[in-house]
Amino acid sequence: MTEKIADGIWRIGVPLPENPLRELNSYFIPGGDRDLLIDTGFCREECREALMAGIRDAGGRPEKIDVLLTHLHSDHSGLAAEAASDDGRIFISGEDMKRMEGDFRDESTRLRRVQFLEAGFPEMILDQTQKVNPAVRYRLEKLDDRFVPVQEGDRIQAGNCELEWVSVPGHTPGNMMLWEKKRGIMFTGDHILFDISPNITSWIGVEDSLGDYLESLRKAGDYPVRLAFPGHRGTGNYGRRIEELLIHHRRRLEEVLRILNENPGLTVYELAGRMRWRIRAASWEEFPAAQKWFAVGECMAHTDYLEKRGYLRRHMEAGVFRLFPLADSLSDAETGEKRREVSWSKEIVS
Ligand SMILES: [Zn+2]
Repeated sequence: MTEKIADGIWRIGVPLPENPLRELNSYFIPGGDRDLLIDTGFCREECREALMAGIRDAGGRPEKIDVLLTHLHSDHSGLAAEAASDDGRIFISGEDMKRMEGDFRDESTRLRRVQFLEAGFPEMILDQTQKVNPAVRYRLEKLDDRFVPVQEGDRIQAGNCELEWVSVPGHTPGNMMLWEKKRGIMFTGDHILFDISPNITSWIGVEDSLGDYLESLRKAGDYPVRLAFPGHRGTGNYGRRIEELLIHHRRRLEEVLRILNENPGLTVYELAGRMRWRIRAASWEEFPAAQKWFAVGECMAHTDYLEKRGYLRRHMEAGVFRLFPLADSLSDAETGEKRREVSWSKEIVS
């Protein structure tokens, strides 16, 4: 489905088959020297058809397309090379670009495997997740010389619309949003989603991705956003959503600490099995393998956060880390989200 959502801006719904996210929101801004496409979909036929049809419906010029990627995930980047014109450019943060190159050499896959085994993830289930992982199966095949690294504050012009890159690490280490100041429009990618909470996982080489994410949420709150265009599903009240996400993670951290106080010595895998998840499965054992992978990654980001701040310690036993609490509860100062003075406008679409 392709729809005009603001003057000069189109949303192209790109289906994500068999994926709980359902659809990627690709945004298209035609009409300037170049047509700009923000995020693209997996590298698979269903996505390709919908994206190309959307570009046609919006009056796009396939020979003049530049692609802007909010982050490296395959559901956003998979079709970048095909969608960009031959002389086009594909913009992404330098950090995520470097990680995509590492992924092609499969370095990170090997390191993450070790990390998950140390978290107590059963090897057999881990192998299953790797076989079916859509992030690997439907990813872009290689980076070519059209890729251009961007950073905070870089700008790009499309017609009468000027976009500025905003660095918000957390969801990925080089995650970005795009800000159109004139109309107060923020393309939030997966940093802020409205009816699901963005997945925050641990990353190789990142000490505290949840800490980074929470800091980036606070930073995002400083923008006077009137319209938010997220990477998946619908939009909503930007400022309120930031507050909700901050509270969501604080509750998650409290939940982790409570479970560890009741059961000291759990592995991250066992801890994840005792947490509450919004998924239809009768028990942790019945969780689909891929969902277990996400759950354990998310849980790890929370235990890293707590360990870094002295709330728990890890102890290695027979190749697996066990977690021991060092406090009963979080201090108020920790993620204390006293309702801050908000600078965003009240007129927000929902
Ligand atoms: Zn993502």
